[in-house]
Amino acid sequence: MDQAANTTGDTLQRRGLMLILSSPSGAGKTTISKMLLARDGAINLSVSATTRPMRPGEVDGKDYIFVDQPTFDRMVEEEHFLEWATVFGHSYGTPKAQVKAGLREGRDFLFDIDWQGTQQLYQKLETDVVRVFLLPPSIDELRRRLTGRGTDSAAVIAARMERARAEISHWDGYDYVVVNDDIEACYDKVLEILHAERMKRARQTGLIGFVRELMKG
Ligand code: ADP
Ligand code: 5GP
Repeated sequence: MDQAANTTGDTLQRRGLMLILSSPSGAGKTTISKMLLARDGAINLSVSATTRPMRPGEVDGKDYIFVDQPTFDRMVEEEHFLEWATVFGHSYGTPKAQVKAGLREGRDFLFDIDWQGTQQLYQKLETDVVRVFLLPPSIDELRRRLTGRGTDSAAVIAARMERARAEISHWDGYDYVVVNDDIEACYDKVLEILHAERMKRARQTGLIGFVRELMKG
C-alpha cells in the first residue's frame, strides 16, 4: 500500500510528515482523505484498527483493520499503537509499525483521527505532526450530510449530532482550520497546507549538506 517516497519533485532528502485531519463526524474528513489519497502521489493512509462494525462499502485492511474487543485490548497491551482512544463507544487505534520507519524514509502519512488521538500524536511526535481541523459551514448542513451519507441509523446520527458541539470545541488545538463548504475549494486548501509543510526547512534533512556543497562552488 505504501507509495514510494520522493515522488513530490523534491530534489533534497526530506523527513516525512504526519498530516492529521479531524472534524466533527459528517463534516467531510473521509471525503477529503479519499481525494488526497487518489490525487496526491506521495501520501499514505495510516490505517487504524477499530472495534466498530464495518459499514457498507468499507474494506477490511483498507478503510480500517476491523478487530474484536479482546484483540484490540491485546494490541494495546503489546504496545502496538502510537495512540488509541474510545470514540462513540468503540475503540480506535493507530498502529505504530508502518509510520515510524516510514517517516525516516521520507514518507508522508495521513491520519483520519479524533482530537484525543491528535493530542497523543502531538505529544509523541510534535515536529512531525501537521494538524488540520475541518468545520462544516453550519450545523444544519452537518445534519444534512450525516443523513445524506446513508450509513448510520437515526439513533447513531442523533448521537453524532449530540457530540458535534463537543468535537468542534477542540478547533483551537489544531494548526489549521478549514471550513468545508465547497468540496473542491476545501480540498485545494488542504493541498496547499500539505505542499507548504513539505517545504519546511526542518523537514529538509538534506539541506545542510546541500548548502555546504553550494558554498564550496
Ligand atoms: P466524516 O468522515 O467527517 O464523518 P464524510 O467525508 O463521510 O464525513 O462526509 C459526510 C457526508 O457529507 C458524505 O456523504 C459526503 O459525501 C458529504 N460531503 C462531504 N463534504 C461535502 C461538501 N463539501 N459538500 C457537500 N457534501 C459533502
Ligand atoms: P468513523 O467510525 O466515523 O470512521 O470514525 C469515528 C471517529 O473516530 C472519527 O472522528 C475518526 O477520526 C476517529 N478515528 C478513526 N480512527 C482513529 C484512531 O486510530 N484513533 C483515534 N484517536 N481516532 C480515530
